[in-house]
Amino acid sequence: MHDTRHDFARDLCAFIDASPSPFHAIAEICGRLDQSSFIETTPGGATPPRGYVARDGSIIMWCLDPDTALSGFDLLGAHTDSPNLRIKPQPDVVCAETRQLGVDTYGGALINSWLDRDLGISGRICVRGEDDLLETRLVKIDRPVARIPQLAIHLDREIDTAGLRLNRQSHLSPIVGAADGSEFRARLAAELDIDADLILTWDLMLHDLMPSSLGGFDDDLIAAPRIDNLLSCHVATEVLCAVTPRPATAAVAALFDHEEVGSQTTYGAGSSWLRRQLDHLLENNGGVRAAAYDDASMLSLDNAHATHPNYVDRHEPAHHIHLNGGPVIKENVNARYASNARTSARFMRACETANVPFQRFVNRSDLACGSTIGPIGSTALAIDAVDVGASQLAMHSIRETAGSADPAMLRDAAAAWLSGPR
Ligand code: ZN
Repeated sequence: MHDTRHDFARDLCAFIDASPSPFHAIAEICGRLDQSSFIETTPGGATPPRGYVARDGSIIMWCLDPDTALSGFDLLGAHTDSPNLRIKPQPDVVCAETRQLGVDTYGGALINSWLDRDLGISGRICVRGEDDLLETRLVKIDRPVARIPQLAIHLDREIDTAGLRLNRQSHLSPIVGAADGSEFRARLAAELDIDADLILTWDLMLHDLMPSSLGGFDDDLIAAPRIDNLLSCHVATEVLCAVTPRPATAAVAALFDHEEVGSQTTYGAGSSWLRRQLDHLLENNGGVRAAAYDDASMLSLDNAHATHPNYVDRHEPAHHIHLNGGPVIKENVNARYASNARTSARFMRACETANVPFQRFVNRSDLACGSTIGPIGSTALAIDAVDVGASQLAMHSIRETAGSADPAMLRDAAAAWLSGPR
């Protein structure tokens, strides 16, 4: 069993390394779905028994029995994006005979962790295609083309007393070469082997090139970028590929971009996109709308803070969470999480069925609590939801830490939640 869990963690590492941007995460997920006989379709198009629709950095996938009228949904939710640095539209900067890129901070990145890293570039560009049609292309430059050197300690004597202070405008521009080097658009065109004039716009970001790996003396740990929340996307995809849906119920996984910036975007969890697609599944499968939403619930997957052994005082003392301790049920009386007594109880029962331990997280009462897509998605659909996830350390660092047994335990619990009693 232990080795099986490590194998799943290694597959997660491969999944993360293939997914430096939300767009690449979607491409990787689509590839896995295609291999599991899912059929890509369009919004408003056919709804095959195993199908999916993907748009930008978001995807909705489902599995249903075409021979019975649809009367309910079991939903898995997660987010595809992670905090990072994004390249500005006119990024060329030359300072002190050095060529740099202008970048913006996406979401709540721990920006100190981006210093002194080998950084590649990923995302998508929009180019002028044949007959003047616009074309979108994925970009993945897996070479250390950019880096943000830290200021030497000799030039920052206050660092030990005042701490490291970074200004997001002036201290984060990566160096990409000498002043007389080409401008960014020309570099990009050369990498892609196209004419620079064809490149119109981009959604590009930086990523760390160090491969994800297991670590610790016994391989108990995972060290990787974007564990929040590609770990959950990986679990949701693998669970959906293996599920046999409950009679008359569609098993659906919705993975959204833009959680880290509030989810209020066209294909974010706060939009009507999921609702439209679920309505469409009902129309095509003889379902009754009111009854189906009444009998729907969401397992919202996003990581939880493990108790940091160097900062134990930042955690609620009666709710310590540890790596490899099993899925974490996240609760908050002020509804920052969607869990309630009834929905948490159903997930606990699923953990028992899967023979997996679970943990219960609450924030310290004197610290502001984070949130996730659970409250947003379940509010938009007016359905039951529970917020759960694997535990991790260093959330929003460029390189995060999780337990290597936790992804497989979350997978088993989520599968039991989908197939077990309500
Ligand atoms: Zn997250």
